[in-house]
Amino acid sequence: MDIVTQKQSSYSGLPVFSSLKAEKVVPAVREMLADAREKLKTIRQAEPGWETTVLPMEILNHQISRAWSPVSHVNSVVNTPELRQAYNQCLPLLSDFFTGLGQDQLLYRAYCKTEQDDEDLSAEQRQVLRLAIQDFRLGGVGLERDKQRLFAENASKLATLQSKFEENLLDAGNAWKRQISDPAIVGGLPASLLESAAASARAENADGWLLRLDQPTYHAVMSHADNRELREAFYEAWVTRASDQGPHAGRWDNFEIMEEIMGLRHANARLLDFDNFAEYSMTPKMAGSVAEVFSFLTDLAQKSAHRGKEELAELVDFAGKKLAAWDLAYYSEKLKQSRCGISEEELRPYFPVDRVLPGLFSLATRLFGICLEPRNDIDTWHDDTVFYELRAANGELIGGLYVDLYARPAKRGGAWMDECIGRVRTRQVCEQPVAYLVCNFMRPLAGCPALLTHSDVVTLFHEFGHALHHLLTQASYPSVAGINGVPWDAVELPSQLMENFAWEPEVLSMVSGHFETGEPLPQDVVDRLLSSRQFQSGLQMLRQLEFAIFDLRLHADYDPARGARILETLRDVREEISIVPVPDWNRFANGFSHVFAGGYAAGYYSYKWAEVLAADAYAAFGEEGLFNHEVADRYRQSILAQGGARGAMENFVAFRGRPPRPEALLEQAGILDRAPAPI
Ligand SMILES: [Zn+2]
Repeated sequence: MDIVTQKQSSYSGLPVFSSLKAEKVVPAVREMLADAREKLKTIRQAEPGWETTVLPMEILNHQISRAWSPVSHVNSVVNTPELRQAYNQCLPLLSDFFTGLGQDQLLYRAYCKTEQDDEDLSAEQRQVLRLAIQDFRLGGVGLERDKQRLFAENASKLATLQSKFEENLLDAGNAWKRQISDPAIVGGLPASLLESAAASARAENADGWLLRLDQPTYHAVMSHADNRELREAFYEAWVTRASDQGPHAGRWDNFEIMEEIMGLRHANARLLDFDNFAEYSMTPKMAGSVAEVFSFLTDLAQKSAHRGKEELAELVDFAGKKLAAWDLAYYSEKLKQSRCGISEEELRPYFPVDRVLPGLFSLATRLFGICLEPRNDIDTWHDDTVFYELRAANGELIGGLYVDLYARPAKRGGAWMDECIGRVRTRQVCEQPVAYLVCNFMRPLAGCPALLTHSDVVTLFHEFGHALHHLLTQASYPSVAGINGVPWDAVELPSQLMENFAWEPEVLSMVSGHFETGEPLPQDVVDRLLSSRQFQSGLQMLRQLEFAIFDLRLHADYDPARGARILETLRDVREEISIVPVPDWNRFANGFSHVFAGGYAAGYYSYKWAEVLAADAYAAFGEEGLFNHEVADRYRQSILAQGGARGAMENFVAFRGRPPRPEALLEQAGILDRAPAPI
């Protein structure tokens, strides 16, 4: 397909979200899988080779992912009981299909034969084969028949349990709310939150304010509510969601599910002769081994401990009293204000979304010469959503991006980027990549644009970094295009690199402007904001390291005879790493979706690993110029365009000219004072 046709028929293949009905999902998925099985028969009968085996499999997988992506997406962003039921019915169907594929010995041999016999393969084609063969091995292709069956059953159960974990968390969060009539109790809360809480109360025919247990509300209450009892109530409700403790103790309790998940992961890792799931998880990663990751994390923890202790002592001193867990964010916010004179809320008026988003897009134009334009004629899943078209400077269509920014009920919490359509460039199929960018920012109030905090802005930059990775890929085969085929511990490089731009004065001026007057962020506010960047960086570092070490140890030390020892492991890790108070009834693990519902199992360390990569890579922009085309282009070509088509270390070295070093991150966090010795 040539470029002109692409342009004209640019988005004929986008999902039609408005006609995606729950009742159609299961039959459609069944039909799609039946059709895929037919195609698979033909592929299996063919003589092994790139054109006859690998390429048709790439297309087949692309078509399934393309069809399933919108279903999985709407389940996350406009969840209904019907959709959820349909989605859950499909999970085992898909899992069965893919587990069967992963264990197909004939297909596996065809891939191996292609890899051995075909001498004309490109480097990208070789990488497709290498990753696929690795996946086959990790999927149990070498197992005897009865063990294979067990492996498949376990995988299918895991998919269902992980989804149930997430559901319980969502239900537990939705079930709790606090209606308040007394203005004294909401003292300190930001006006924007109170306005939306008053609207929620009116919608339920209640007076006063209705505060829900979503992420922005929880964060605002913990940081700003002067009423200690309110903070304690929110803290208790949040950290006991889906557990045996707190206001809904025992209802939606994830504990048994977590035990089962851990057991099944371990069992499958053992079936493949790994010592434990952590070893299994490390195989496709950029990091070399579990031991290497432990020493990476421990080293960072040791280097950050002193700084963290100083910060906590300063906080306790500032508060003038012993602090409980629900006091930390509140007094930290007050200390930050007193030291840096900055509060997240004060900055909101300067970050209206209609400045931030165009500003971010013009940064992308300055760096990479690409343009993003809104299109109003594209069907979406919710009125909040806008579709943007991404084009090169010469007008050539590169891809598309759906942006859905605001929190609402029945939308999964947090922020993320996901693939809607992957890039394909073959003789048979040509498609441009399309991505979803989803956040949970506070909704705009009537007559006003949505006003973001600076940390919202950083989140948006982060997800946009992922989107660029997906959209600027030059790979031709979907399994290595964009974020596909990129090891988990390297996938956060582009996102965290992008965050750094949100701390540059020149970029801040591009994305800000008072929503009423257009007035730029005053210089002293910029100075204070920048001085706040390293605020409590030691404590934040220790917190992330605590999660990462907990996750890795949980999986590395699992012993079926003892069970998962989730609470015990968390307690042990906290004793070693954590320096802040945590009550006994805190059930953080029961809401740790990254590890129990998502792809970060024995991989949470990836955030820190990639942060080192990102800080070190970003330092090149510092050295060579923020908007330097040469460095931006080298970054685009070496990392973004490559995606998974080449090894992550090779990509990094191609950009930086050497392997990564942790110093840039420690320096960025203000933990390492001295610049590293020049090389
Ligand atoms: Zn990310």
